[in-house]
Amino acid sequence: MARDIGAKCRQCRREGLKLFLKGERCLTEKCAIERRSYPPGEHGRGRIKQSEYLLQLREKQKARRYYGLLEKQFRNTYAKASRRTGPTGENLLRMLETRLDNVVYRLGFAGSRAQARQLVRHGHFMVNGRRVNIPSFGVRPDDIISLRQGSPAEPIVRDATDLTAAVTPWLQADHDGLTGKMLKWPERAEIDTPVQESLIVELYSK
Ligand code: SF4
Repeated sequence: MARDIGAKCRQCRREGLKLFLKGERCLTEKCAIERRSYPPGEHGRGRIKQSEYLLQLREKQKARRYYGLLEKQFRNTYAKASRRTGPTGENLLRMLETRLDNVVYRLGFAGSRAQARQLVRHGHFMVNGRRVNIPSFGVRPDDIISLRQGSPAEPIVRDATDLTAAVTPWLQADHDGLTGKMLKWPERAEIDTPVQESLIVELYSK
């Protein structure tokens, strides 16, 4: 499974905001953004010449890192989004949000998207009663996501639910039964990802 193995906190510092890539640590004062809120590297505190291209690039990198995708995976998702009806930027965000690994994270069954991805990859989750181990699997309205019965990951998943205060309105979670349901397609206003998708569309449309 190809995945981004780069230093997580460096990615947040580069984008200048918390991307919540490390689970519980992100909620503590150990978070690197709290301690060193400037870009990483020798010239991190130097002046950077702003340009339209740089803005678009940073927005794309931010979204890609937020969801933990490699460039090729992100570009493929964008290509699929552009073939769907409706605004490409919104389609892209909706596709990223409804990936199984993201849904598991949003339901509160994992402390980070990376952990959700690993749990899915190792076959701990089921969709509509069938084991699914593909993190990019597209969840659809009325799909039921549940932890596989007898899964050794149950203590990890229960610990993660303690970190989750609220579940996004387009999902419904039962943290006692460790099951969840997708109620509907998410509206743009219900996706709190801090990106301007129009800049990503501009970048890829060049
Ligand atoms: Fe980002 Fe989490 Fe590291 Fe903070 S602790 S910089 S939010 S990955």
